[in-house]
Amino acid sequence: MPWAVCPHCVGEGLRSSVGRRWRCPRCGGEWDEAERVPCPEPGTVALTNEGGGGIVRLVCASHAAHPSAARLRRALQIVPPETEGD
Ligand SMILES: [Zn+2]
Ligand SMILES: [Zn+2]
Repeated sequence: MPWAVCPHCVGEGLRSSVGRRWRCPRCGGEWDEAERVPCPEPGTVALTNEGGGGIVRLVCASHAAHPSAARLRRALQIVPPETEGD
């Protein structure tokens, strides 16, 4: 996703402020652009195309809830984390 989201406020996009700092309008948190773009959060939600063409991409919960993701998703599916071991 080309836009940055807040890791604390699900679905809240960050706004660029001075320089390469990004700020959350909801909680006031600030990050360097390099910290949030590309998104460092683990992808736990699968976004599918309209028409159900399979999984388009995996995104974090915050990105999945962002209004800009609404176009991409027809259905949201939580993908369980891969089990490790054995
Ligand atoms: Zn926030
Ligand atoms: Zn994300």
